[in-house]
Amino acid sequence: MNRALRPVITLSLLTLSITLQAAPAVSTGQGGAVATISEQASRAAIAILDQGGNAIDAAVAAAATLGVTDPFSCGIGGGGFMLIYSADDDKVISIDHRETAPAYFHPGIFQQNGEAMAWEEVVPTGISVGVPGTVLGWQEALGRYGTMSLEQTLAPAIEVAEQGFTVTDNFHRIAQKNEHKFARFEPSRALYLQNDKALPVGSHFSNPDLAATYRAIAKGGAQAFYEGDIARDIVAAVNQPPVVDGVSVLSATMTLNDLKDYEVRLRQPIHSTYRGYDVYGMAPPSSGGIAIAQALNLLETRDLSAASRTEAEHLYLEASRLAFADRNAYVADTEFTDVPIAGLLSKEYAKHRAPLLEARAAGQRGPGDPFAYQDDPSVPLRPAAAGLMQESAHTTHLAVSDRHGNVVAYTFTIEDWGGSGIVVPGRGFLLNNELTDFDFSAPHPNVAEAFKRPRSSMSPTIVLRDGKPAFTIGSPGGSTIITTVLQTMVNHIDLGMSLADALAAPRMSQRNGDTTLVETLLGFPGSEQARALEALGHRFVETDQIGAANGIAFHADGSVTAVSEPRRHGVGTALVQQQ
Ligand code: GLU
Repeated sequence: MNRALRPVITLSLLTLSITLQAAPAVSTGQGGAVATISEQASRAAIAILDQGGNAIDAAVAAAATLGVTDPFSCGIGGGGFMLIYSADDDKVISIDHRETAPAYFHPGIFQQNGEAMAWEEVVPTGISVGVPGTVLGWQEALGRYGTMSLEQTLAPAIEVAEQGFTVTDNFHRIAQKNEHKFARFEPSRALYLQNDKALPVGSHFSNPDLAATYRAIAKGGAQAFYEGDIARDIVAAVNQPPVVDGVSVLSATMTLNDLKDYEVRLRQPIHSTYRGYDVYGMAPPSSGGIAIAQALNLLETRDLSAASRTEAEHLYLEASRLAFADRNAYVADTEFTDVPIAGLLSKEYAKHRAPLLEARAAGQRGPGDPFAYQDDPSVPLRPAAAGLMQESAHTTHLAVSDRHGNVVAYTFTIEDWGGSGIVVPGRGFLLNNELTDFDFSAPHPNVAEAFKRPRSSMSPTIVLRDGKPAFTIGSPGGSTIITTVLQTMVNHIDLGMSLADALAAPRMSQRNGDTTLVETLLGFPGSEQARALEALGHRFVETDQIGAANGIAFHADGSVTAVSEPRRHGVGTALVQQQ
């Protein structure tokens, strides 16, 4: 329908250069910088910086391009969190454009006969789809902190969508995992499959429908997405998903008002300190900023410089465990739930919990009681221990900085790889399944409610030293995002690794479980490092790879180092502007 399969012949400098050059995963220089998982997206950001745009303009350009090249992880059918360090204002602010539950939502929506429905059953349906926030998020970011228009910043992405690109291993691999999901919906099948199979590696993929949708947004602004024909198409796709013959699917009752009424939130980030650094992370509805700050507060009670690598990593795993015990119990959208943020972030509370960092792996822990550490003790909740709910592990994170000192850490997503699997007919983008990030069983602070934003783990992070950016980091990976960002920070700050080494090191994800997730790709299982931790009681479960992080380090001489994944997720691209 709207896929063009043709030989790789393109006149575009942007796309041509991609096929000729290997992607650098580390770049150092004096100009603006970018790190993303997509070569085209990183080049789009540099093109915008070279045209005089700032980091916010470049971040929107990179994000829009990622929506073309990595459509299974992110896009305008989803939402995200953009953290911005504004050099002029000398402050960090965040733009929350998380997907929101429509008006018809209620706590029992994911239950049948009093039982929580299976996560897999809900994902490829209309009821998993939240009102998308990305387009309004971009518009707000540009309007408040950017210098360019949507028209200018979407231009590189429109070019890539129209001219297309060669299907990579990674694109193929992810589409392959989603063959069954995409085959349920006519437009998804037509766009991403060939004879119901993922497009082969080396074939050419373009997305003229998405190019046209971007053009409409470039011309009409966010209003063109949230009202009018595109909005009508979104609502129709959610309420009567465009299924192939023989497939029946739960449908929803999203309305045009749900789209028209969507609002972005400007939020104060979570601020904490760690060994002389100022750490800024994402506030609720993400749990990322709080959990990372809590784990760092716990680690700060110990002298890691005197610890062996094994001891330091053991403490990292146990601090993460305790942070997750509280995260699972307390954190949700603060517009609907009283989250004891001050107590959770209190250094005194961390000291109170720190004795639980024992010499051996502890096994699952219950949540602590942060209420005694709140200035406002009126918060009445004492939630019981909650388990880690099922969550997907696929989104994308990008980092951008500019010559003026602005920094953007931006994580955005459509939740599962391929989201709900529903491509909006004729529009070229997938709708999210973000509402499956709600807890399915009530009562819980993160239960589904109308107009609520589901709890996230996305953790765009900006770290300052003496008031100036020191580094920025973020990753995809569902709830492993929190551990990836935390571990990378510990590697960098406590274990003395460069940001590049910190990001390349094997990852371990302990989220208050009996076992810790580790990466096969990086050869961690069976390694000396693994055996030393096993001797302390840690038990490992393997997964192929965890996360796909991107970051930028800022050096005292004014130079910057952009760092992207050297091995995971098909290898990312880090670029610095040429002088
Ligand atoms: N839904 C996840 C979250 O908001 C993001 C998906 C992912 O990282 O894979 O935390």
